[in-house]
Amino acid sequence: MDNTPNHRNEIAHSHRIVLKIGSAVLTNATDKSLDRGVFCRLIEMVAKLRQQGRDVVIVTSGAIALGRSLIHCDRPDREKSLPTLQALAAIGQSLLMDYYEQELRYYGLRCGQLLLTRADLEDRTRFNNARRSIEALLEMGVIPVINENDAVTCDEIRFGDNDTLSARVAVLSKADLLIIMSDIDAVYTGNPKIDPTAKRIESIDAFDPNLDLYAGDSLGDVGTGGMKTKISAARMAAKMGIATLILQGKRPKFVLQVLEGKDHGTLLYASEHKQTLHKTWLESLLVKGTILCDDGACQAITSQGKSLLPKGVIAVSGKFSEGEAVELAGSDGKVFAKGIALYDDNDIRKIAGHHSSEIDDILGIHISDAIVHRDDLVLL
Ligand code: GLU
Repeated sequence: MDNTPNHRNEIAHSHRIVLKIGSAVLTNATDKSLDRGVFCRLIEMVAKLRQQGRDVVIVTSGAIALGRSLIHCDRPDREKSLPTLQALAAIGQSLLMDYYEQELRYYGLRCGQLLLTRADLEDRTRFNNARRSIEALLEMGVIPVINENDAVTCDEIRFGDNDTLSARVAVLSKADLLIIMSDIDAVYTGNPKIDPTAKRIESIDAFDPNLDLYAGDSLGDVGTGGMKTKISAARMAAKMGIATLILQGKRPKFVLQVLEGKDHGTLLYASEHKQTLHKTWLESLLVKGTILCDDGACQAITSQGKSLLPKGVIAVSGKFSEGEAVELAGSDGKVFAKGIALYDDNDIRKIAGHHSSEIDDILGIHISDAIVHRDDLVLL
């Protein structure tokens, strides 16, 4: 008997679904105004998912595109016109929410808006606040509608694309399934526009290395995420055991059909391995510096799950404070872990190579024997 799990069948039981809806799905290609036909069918599908007793979280793009449609301007260059983009996002976001409000109300549903920045999810307290807020909305039967807070983000603190944001939201809300609805309908073995032999992948392990070969990037005119960002978003979700489905967004009924067992799009399933929420959060942090470790420390951390002690530090680069994320690299410079530093870069330079019992004498303070504690460390 074949005991291979049928991942397509498993997703039928998904109780909590994060739907990522791309700008190219929501808007008309010509003038970037709302594609009303698609939008109505989308919300009808969401209402059906709710009737089936599923929790739905929406991550929506479209703010900047709708802002452009109102002000009638071309897509500004990000580097040159960040304030223009921020203003367009502010204009478009309220219009976007108005559309969601009205259409959901038609089905007796309510929504609540959350605008997140990367910095919100970097900070553990704000991360937990966002998590609790989503949970409370779902408990009330309200649909969280989430976007990046584009009106206040700059490059240092932005997710950059809503594929990444949707994976973070899937992790945050402990979803069972992430559905990325965009103008890309599936993963193919080649570019189907130019290669007639290109085949659609029906299901694949999110960590299958072949995916990197298939992910030639394809940037559209409206959204920001190509196939690479979708695959890396799926991998982020898969670490928490969450499967990702890539589907043609202009055909919302595909979502319901796939949950009934029909074969559309590509399913990137999560293998058995599951990481804790804390480790997934650690992995998502922006790093501020690198600590070079000797072979002994490297071995103790990777094989025995030990903390990094000052004795094992060869060198430090970058500027960071206590509590910020750093990368750990071996003597060959290869990064093997990421974690939270318990001392700032200057202090680590002073205690590098010393025994932990000397920390107090050298710094006049002893926060911990470790520089990066094993509980706040994730192997890459
Ligand atoms: N957050 C952007 C918006 O609402 C879209 C980002 C993306 O396309 O991934 O316009």
